[in-house]
Amino acid sequence: MTATRPRILTGDTPTGQLHLGHWVGSVKRRVELQDTHDCYFILANYHAFTTRADKPQDIRRDTVAIVRDYLAMGIDPERSTIFLQSEVPAIHELAFLFAMLLPFNRVMRNPTLKTEIETKGLGDTYSFGFPLYAVGQCADILAFRPVGVPVGEDQVPHLELTREVGRRFNQMYCGVPTDADDADHLKLGGVWPVPRAEVGKVGRLVGIDGKNKMSKSLGNAIFISDSPKEVEAKVKKIFTGRQSPTEPGDVNNALFQYVDAFIDDPERVAELRRRYAAGDNLGDGHVKVEVAAAINRLLEPMRERRARIGEDDALVLDILKKGCARANAVAEETLEMARKAAGLHFFPRTLSYR
Ligand code: ATP
Ligand code: MG
Repeated sequence: MTATRPRILTGDTPTGQLHLGHWVGSVKRRVELQDTHDCYFILANYHAFTTRADKPQDIRRDTVAIVRDYLAMGIDPERSTIFLQSEVPAIHELAFLFAMLLPFNRVMRNPTLKTEIETKGLGDTYSFGFPLYAVGQCADILAFRPVGVPVGEDQVPHLELTREVGRRFNQMYCGVPTDADDADHLKLGGVWPVPRAEVGKVGRLVGIDGKNKMSKSLGNAIFISDSPKEVEAKVKKIFTGRQSPTEPGDVNNALFQYVDAFIDDPERVAELRRRYAAGDNLGDGHVKVEVAAAINRLLEPMRERRARIGEDDALVLDILKKGCARANAVAEETLEMARKAAGLHFFPRTLSYR
């Protein structure tokens, strides 16, 4: 890890464990970026309270479980910083400032929030904090002044909000002209760059229900920690609605999203697509066996790494503690810059662990 590498920030909410959607949408890219970038991975445990405030022990359990998922997937805590949102108070101060720079209706127009309200059945009784998390996420990101944020497609509206608030702050408090190019904000004295969303190879992996985005809170996920048998059983459930191996199949259906995402051999993928579309005696069952085998090939080295990590939480907590210290160093520096810009810089301060 060196200070001269460009920085990236991304992360996950501990509302469950990580699944294949996380891998294809974001984590695969994160593992690669460790070679070239200074990487920060946030566990947004305060944001988990938006839908799970009554289950703090579950949030804590899932937080630790996700760190294990990270390590299993190849995130290296020596090179990357894994940290807890709840341990970085600078983020929450920035969120308060940002809440003043965004029109309320602008936040509520966010299509990802609307989808979440619908698919998670939140009705009209969701907390005030639920839409506020979108503002908080702007602070999670900008606190680290990253150049890019590797995410799935559903996060693009959140990134748009982040870019908007970043620009507005730089313009309002740092003298960046309103017609400045996004790429020039730092050069022109802005506190943060206007960060890009970097969507993975598969921006939205559908769940095994064949309908919604694969999501840890919707019961339609294949988890990174699933056993080979669980993977096979779940892949069998992928819904296509096709009746027979000789019926011409739709190669845009959910099953073929999995074929495209997980079968590595492009020639085999092309052949499966051709025969399926033609109804050339290729049953869903057969395709599913190949998909499950491909997913298990992907997960096997992750299972081995997980087994090596063992059951001891002390290791995970040690990684988090070191990560939080590193994260606070950057976020505090950002907060000082922002407070200065906004005329709030009365006295310097730092936080330390006892
Ligand atoms: P929740 O159901 O609690 O919202 P989630 O499964 O959507 O959980 P998040 O923690 O909200 O997971 O998302 C973490 C990251 O993984 C984000 O960058 C998100 O875009 C990406 N991601 C999540 N699900 C998918 C998916 N099905 N396909 C591609 N990327 C995904
Ligand atoms: Mg989500």
